[in-house]
Amino acid sequence: MSLYNMDLEKVISKINSRDAKTVGLQFPEGLKMQATQIAKLIEANTEATVIISADPCFGACDVTDSKMKGFVDLIIHYGHTPLPLKYEVPVYFVEAYSNIDIKPILKASLEKLKDYTKIGLVTTTQHLNRLNEIKDFLEDNGKEVVLGSSKNTRKGQVLGCNFSSIKGLDAEVYLFIGSGSFHPLGIHLFTKEKVLAVDPYNNEIREMDEFADKILRIRFARITKAKSAKKWGIIVSSKEGQYRMKLAMDIKKQIEDEKMEAYILVLDNINPDALLPYLDLDAFVVTACPRIAIDDSQMYKKPLITPQELEIVLNKRKWEDYQLDEILFHERYSN
Ligand code: SF4
Repeated sequence: MSLYNMDLEKVISKINSRDAKTVGLQFPEGLKMQATQIAKLIEANTEATVIISADPCFGACDVTDSKMKGFVDLIIHYGHTPLPLKYEVPVYFVEAYSNIDIKPILKASLEKLKDYTKIGLVTTTQHLNRLNEIKDFLEDNGKEVVLGSSKNTRKGQVLGCNFSSIKGLDAEVYLFIGSGSFHPLGIHLFTKEKVLAVDPYNNEIREMDEFADKILRIRFARITKAKSAKKWGIIVSSKEGQYRMKLAMDIKKQIEDEKMEAYILVLDNINPDALLPYLDLDAFVVTACPRIAIDDSQMYKKPLITPQELEIVLNKRKWEDYQLDEILFHERYSN
């Protein structure tokens, strides 16, 4: 049906076994174009009426349970590994493994790995089903493969903005399989080692050093600009998996202790238009999704920085100790 395995038989059997009459479907951006096709198949094979969530969805931190509560019996959430959250409606997660053939690009990456023996292999949910195949391929080509794991992640998995699985891993180089720059950038910044990002969708192999330098230069510029701020906005997301009010309160106090003003803003989807009315604020600290400040910062007129970057602004952290923000599992419960 597509590049992804959508587990349709299991979904249909789940809906039938629960006798669900109304089913919510939620997809990440990259899978949304399959929504109506899947809805049609579900409606043809069950008694259920399907309701598609058309809001943006970037992670399992953003399940639409509270919005769909009261009008769906079950939510099918595609493309993400579940986080340890409590949901207001039963949620069935379909991880949507990619069917793309990884072998050609993997073969091409061997040339760039020729000077290394011990490889840290990391991927996202979409390719976890291929992890053993990739590991075997690398070992057949003389490499030693190490896989990290942590509580709540599987072996070799980096999950959302949680990089716990790669911390403390002993490898000469990291091979990241997947799309986008955020994860390989995070692996590079947390391990300080060379990272090769292999993107089977775009048939691209990138070394992250140069990209990381570019991002760090941008972050340095944002932090420098934020140093002259006197009036701050602290952004909290109302999405359950991104909600860190306790951290926001702590940040407000830290800023006020420095004799500056700070205001907490709570919103669901953070975007430049939503912040337009607050142009009297000089800078923003984002306690919501850590990707907002890193991936989208050029879209905002005022500097958007992470809580760790604020520590640099307030001289509580050295620039040399720069780290990406992570939303760790215990934080999702404690706020
Ligand atoms: S908060 Fe973390 S898990 Fe959620 S979308 Fe952002 S990076 Fe992904």
